[in-house]
Amino acid sequence: MSNFTFKPLSKKQEEDLDNLYTMLQEEAPKFLGYPCSCEFDYSPLYRFLQYPVNNVGDPFDSNHYHLNSHPFEQEVVNSFIRFTNGNTEDIWGYVTNGGTEGNLYGAYLARELFPNGMVYYSSASHYSIPKILRIAATQSIMVKSQINGEIDYTDLYDMINVHRDVPPIIFANIGTTMTGAIDDITRIKQILSDLMIHEYYIHADAALSGMIIPFLKNPPAFGFDSGIDSLAISGHKMVGSPIPCGIALAKQDHVTRITRMIEYVGSRDTTITGSRNGVTPLFMWYAIQTKGMDGFRKMIAHSFKMADYAIEEFRKIDINAWRNENSITVVFPKQKKRYMEKWQMAVENDIAHIITMPHVTKEQIDLMIDDLR
Ligand SMILES: *Cc1c(COP(=O)(O)O)cnc(C)c1O
Repeated sequence: MSNFTFKPLSKKQEEDLDNLYTMLQEEAPKFLGYPCSCEFDYSPLYRFLQYPVNNVGDPFDSNHYHLNSHPFEQEVVNSFIRFTNGNTEDIWGYVTNGGTEGNLYGAYLARELFPNGMVYYSSASHYSIPKILRIAATQSIMVKSQINGEIDYTDLYDMINVHRDVPPIIFANIGTTMTGAIDDITRIKQILSDLMIHEYYIHADAALSGMIIPFLKNPPAFGFDSGIDSLAISGHKMVGSPIPCGIALAKQDHVTRITRMIEYVGSRDTTITGSRNGVTPLFMWYAIQTKGMDGFRKMIAHSFKMADYAIEEFRKIDINAWRNENSITVVFPKQKKRYMEKWQMAVENDIAHIITMPHVTKEQIDLMIDDLR
């Protein structure tokens, strides 16, 4: 679709592209260390890549920019509101560039609500959190975490108690990056109530687990029914996407506070970036429609089975692997550097992990364990 003719790639450039493609093909089967699912096929949507689809503005507003996929984005947002036990009347959201943007959004809303608030996050929080807090110029305290990665509730209590003159803004981890630990929202709320603190804000960083917990038989408290104010989930993790994406959800009241009308696009400005990806909402929509609750339930059951299988196999070769409840992140002591690199495994201090995303098979785990042996 072009009025112009351009020059073709050189032979060398074609080769470079082919080499990149071959590299991806070779590396993908060893992809065990990061929480990105390879379990997707969006080829029926490739035709949408022909247009400058752009979801600029609020997904629920009409807009001067017509090349958008807003109706599909709305459906995605509403699905995620359901997954997180919210109500479409009081919760609003949009499709982001990933979990980090959703966390930034939470920090933005919280800081606008409580300009002098104190942010509490844990030493096991994702690296994006301290960065975001620098961007948002909020005062913050890093709270200790327990060995399993969950926040240290005693330390949290003590820290809030010391600073009880300002409203607490709590960044809870719903699945930490390294160990998949889930901070107990009920317990955090109990701490606030014990301290007789009534003004507070809770943001849930649920990058990976936000798309696992809704499909469990006995889910821990994590959604809007447990009293959180905002939440971030990554789309390229459990949903799966070749382009990073995610979802930010928040209470409508908080969003109204930051909303400005933008004449140039004819829409309310409620999002962080101006131009926004119009294709990733289609991917997420397609995944939700075709996989459905049942499909996700099946994939996640498979992930838990593979996590337990990996733990068993690690233990057979005397490597003490473990996982948190409701997490598919298998944690084990750091191994030789060459091995960790070959299998693209994330390392922090003396621990490493694999994450048994839906694409991970027994055969892959066997190969990995054999190699370690
Ligand atoms: C991956 C992750 C993030 C960041 O998400 P991106 O989608 O990579 O921006 C934030 N928090 C946690 C706990 C994560 O695991």
